[in-house]
Amino acid sequence: MSAGPATVVVSGAHVATVDAAGTEYPDGYVVVRGNRIVDVGAGPAPVIDGARVVDGRGCLLTPGLVNTHHHLYQWITRGLAADDTLFGWLTTLYPIWAGIDADAVRTAATGGLAWLAKHGCTTTTDHHYVVPRDGGDVFGAEIEAAQTVGLRFHPSRGSMDLGHSQGGLPPDSVVERLEDVLKGTQDVIDRWHDPAPDSMLRIAVAPCSPFSVTGDLLTEAAALARSAGVRLHTHLAETLDEHDFCHERFGCTPVQYMEQLGWVGPDVWYAHAVHLDDVAIAAMAGTGTGAAHCPTSNARLGAGIARAKDLHVAGVPLGLGVDGAASNEACNMLEEARHAVLFARARGGPGEMTVRTALELATRGGARVLGREDELGSLEPGKLADLALWRVDTLAHSGITDPVAALVLGVTPPLELLLVNGRAVVERGRVITVNEENVAAEVEQAHRALVRKAG
Ligand SMILES: [Zn+2]
Repeated sequence: MSAGPATVVVSGAHVATVDAAGTEYPDGYVVVRGNRIVDVGAGPAPVIDGARVVDGRGCLLTPGLVNTHHHLYQWITRGLAADDTLFGWLTTLYPIWAGIDADAVRTAATGGLAWLAKHGCTTTTDHHYVVPRDGGDVFGAEIEAAQTVGLRFHPSRGSMDLGHSQGGLPPDSVVERLEDVLKGTQDVIDRWHDPAPDSMLRIAVAPCSPFSVTGDLLTEAAALARSAGVRLHTHLAETLDEHDFCHERFGCTPVQYMEQLGWVGPDVWYAHAVHLDDVAIAAMAGTGTGAAHCPTSNARLGAGIARAKDLHVAGVPLGLGVDGAASNEACNMLEEARHAVLFARARGGPGEMTVRTALELATRGGARVLGREDELGSLEPGKLADLALWRVDTLAHSGITDPVAALVLGVTPPLELLLVNGRAVVERGRVITVNEENVAAEVEQAHRALVRKAG
């Protein structure tokens, strides 16, 4: 074989393919050509003239991690309201978030995306729902950041139209009018959505939550998304407060409310899905409605522990999400995998979740939630070249015989290499697409300016 341009061979690694059969090669290789995986197997790697050969000895090779819920703009508002509940935390943060603009969002998103990459994430969603009238092109700003850092990006155009004066939670100053939301959402789809099979950028439609948007907006947003062929996302069943809000206002559970509005189906995924009864889980499974399980954020805000095993066993498409940086200062997808295992077992006993199920949720599960299981989430010939090479032979992990256990239960290993669409984004623990120190300094400055602006 001779090499075309940009052929990369990773050899001598423990390869966890995370395919449907759970195939692993303790001494295996992967060959990438351009933006696709072309070969995966056991034993010595094929010799290809001109290829870059990466020595994977002492490393675990996995699919890149897929993050199914985030709010990147919050990267410059981390650590605030550190000991509050969701509703109290939101009430503290809304006035600060009201001051964001395109520059602030670009800085926040660059920091947040670089951090995700540094911890093995290759595809991420974002849920951006604060769109100040005079804030400029906040959506364009985060897309620019994703292109700079080099991650595969599924941003969702969020919105709020149920202000405090109408019985909602957010202050009136951060809500939009329904017609402005619909126009803004359509504009974003027309401008940015790329449905191509190897797309680096897909848009979703994402009104914020039942307690911050009207039923009219949810209904209209679903119609818009379906006519444009894009996915639907929202927060749902995160806290008991939300459960009570839905009961008092609509006389039903959050999932029943969403069913009434047409917000179920294989093109819909909910963030959190913590407080679900058996009827809700059956409804999600029966309609193919997905969930982004965010164990760290749910614990940080004391929201509860989602029934991850029950969702998974029922067949609900299930991925993991870091959630916004203001409710998860770590924003590390491997921590989500670890917390998914630990919290599931703490909640339901030792048989609740295996380490390999957690890795599956962080990769192929997330790809399924985003409707991209045929392209992403496992190391198989023909799939897109999104992969993470973790060093598991340092002091942190040496002596742990099972590298998947080392990855999920240990501290996050150093990342030897991260390829996104065949392109190196992280090398030997450093993000190479941006200057990490400069980004850190810009984040610090943007954080101070924003807090100062809120007075
Ligand atoms: Zn969220």
